[in-house]
Amino acid sequence: MDDGILFIVSAPSGAGKTSLLKTLLARDPALSLSVSCTTRQARAGERNGVHYHFLDRDQFHNEIAQNAFLEHAEVFGNFYGTREADVRAHLESGRDVVLEIDWQGARQVGERFSDSVGIFILPPSIAELEQRLLGRATDSESVIAQRMTQARNEMTHYGEYDYLVVNDRFETALDALSAIVMAERQRLGRQRLRLAHLLNQLD
Ligand code: 5GP
Repeated sequence: MDDGILFIVSAPSGAGKTSLLKTLLARDPALSLSVSCTTRQARAGERNGVHYHFLDRDQFHNEIAQNAFLEHAEVFGNFYGTREADVRAHLESGRDVVLEIDWQGARQVGERFSDSVGIFILPPSIAELEQRLLGRATDSESVIAQRMTQARNEMTHYGEYDYLVVNDRFETALDALSAIVMAERQRLGRQRLRLAHLLNQLD
């Protein structure tokens, strides 16, 4: 069995990444979403082991010391990391894996998995992103301003990815993500292994 493909997806908060990925994964049973570890508090409705593995700081630092993470980073004052054993187990069983991580993690994974595929999701405009962040009405102005700064900072790293998808219309962005996944699966290098039984008869 050949290894699955590792997709890395990043976006500023407010770009709609989580909903897009949720729908993409529901439609494509060959894709798995990696469950990250984090030290941040669980939000309402989030379940341990489903949305994140919620760890305290000591547990997180122990895992760093044990080299358990494929990548890890501090984002908005909390730690986040991807367990390497989980990702490798999925890939080795032939499943394609999606990592929903920030640009710092994406950079680390790209250095270690040279054939991983990076996808960056952008909002249609900065003004639109601001509107979307403002839409989360419970936040104070200073929290919104801070979110915008962080979102801009995340977006400055778009050039480090293989694909840019603009989430203007949800369905269009979803189709684009799906098309990227499909195209990557048909790449010559990957098909050589998968179709060896057929290609061997042609050589
Ligand atoms: P949230 O706390 O809103 O779920 O996520 C905050 C940010 O952390 C998002 O940009 C998300 O992509 C990023 N993130 C989530 N999991 C990981 C991870 O395992 N590693 C890294 N580097 N970033 C992560």
